[in-house]
Amino acid sequence: MNRRYDALVIGAGIVGAACALELAKAKMRVAVVEREGVGSGATAAAMGHIVVMADSEAQFLLTSYSQSLWAALSSELPASVECQRPGTIWIASDEEEMAEVVRKFEYYTAHGVPVEVLDAQALAEAEPNLRRPLAGGLRVASDMVLDPLRGAEYLLQTASVDLMPGQTVVTAGNGRIALQNGTELESPVIINATGAFAPALAPGIAIRKRKGHLVLTDRYPGFVRHQLVELGYLKSAHSSETDSVAFNIQPRKSGQLLIGSSRQFDVEDPGIDRGIVASMIERASLYMPEIAKLATQRVQCGFRAATPDKLPLIGPTEDPSIFLATGHEGLGITTSLATARLLADHILGRLSAIPIEPYLPSRFAFKICLQDLPSRMARSRKGDQR
Ligand SMILES: Cc1cc2nc3c(=O)[nH]c(=O)nc-3n(C[C@H](O)[C@H](O)[C@H](O)COP(=O)(O)OP(=O)(O)OC[C@H]3O[C@@H](n4cnc5c(N)ncnc54)[C@H](O)[C@@H]3O)c2cc1C
Repeated sequence: MNRRYDALVIGAGIVGAACALELAKAKMRVAVVEREGVGSGATAAAMGHIVVMADSEAQFLLTSYSQSLWAALSSELPASVECQRPGTIWIASDEEEMAEVVRKFEYYTAHGVPVEVLDAQALAEAEPNLRRPLAGGLRVASDMVLDPLRGAEYLLQTASVDLMPGQTVVTAGNGRIALQNGTELESPVIINATGAFAPALAPGIAIRKRKGHLVLTDRYPGFVRHQLVELGYLKSAHSSETDSVAFNIQPRKSGQLLIGSSRQFDVEDPGIDRGIVASMIERASLYMPEIAKLATQRVQCGFRAATPDKLPLIGPTEDPSIFLATGHEGLGITTSLATARLLADHILGRLSAIPIEPYLPSRFAFKICLQDLPSRMARSRKGDQR
């Protein structure tokens, strides 16, 4: 096993996989250390909605940039990733939510995202299994869906990296990481991409676990045509403390349906909470009454990594060798590719398509550490040759 790399990535979720690929493309020698298997964390639990969101300008920039990177990659993705573009419909159940449809319509239109307002009739025609009447909705045609686990696997397969599954990192800092089996690896660039578990290796960072559940059904082709999300989802995603469920359904290429989702803070138990699952199905049935009759194939759950301002942590820390790529909450599948590109741009001193500043970890606790990375990497390579 090599002991010294140009970059070490801790965590082989979709974010770590994207970071590894981006750095490997820049000809860096990269190792990815993962305590379980590829995508075994939140990535395996996720829905894979590649969605443009606009709760803030910074969120819009990151999600729309990342969606454009996914769109550019989509023709290369193998069929197993099940990438498709059904678009999203944000559902308004009353006039108050219709006002939000109009607000979103204006924002997206002003920012060049093609959107369409649906009235009650157009919504019913677009999605015949929705209950009637509903007030209407907003269709965002460019949103995509994919299988996040297969996506992470694909990113790592195409990256020329040393993958070390089944290896837990116990400490990281000062240019080295220590594995539970006693091995030490060295690098001037160590990326903490451990999602909701990032504070274990970077104590004090502003991350809180936010558990979520999804239900995967048997095959019901044509039951749903778009990714459907109730507008109340935004309230649920924003509610800071209470447990919440919101209706969200996705058609998979296989004909299966993914029904979501829940949000719970401060739950450490990784197991399935039957009460929460029942609330999700009850909520979904309010929008699509037939859902109550569908057969469940499995329930999946995982921990989102939440930050106080709902933006991820991407960039350097006060330890010049440690970089963060975490805090993506419910948008890490969407924003993985942009996260990786921004971080690689920063590390390699390249110009970025969007500014990294809104996502820098230093906005909470750390001072930005703009050390001379290229020369540290050169020093590390020289050390390698000795
Ligand atoms: C129910 C649900 C639905 C979601 N739906 C969507 C969606 O539709 N669209 C979207 O964009 N996002 C969605 N998300 C969010 C998305 O899943 C996450 O933001 C994303 O998966 C984060 O990826 P990650 O690589 O940062 O973390 P993870 O996938 O959690 O990967 C972290 C990895 O680090 C490993 N690890 C941890 N500690 C160590 C250690 N000490 N040593 C070695 N390895 C370690 C873990 O085993 C894990 O594999 C959803 C999340 C949930 C829970």
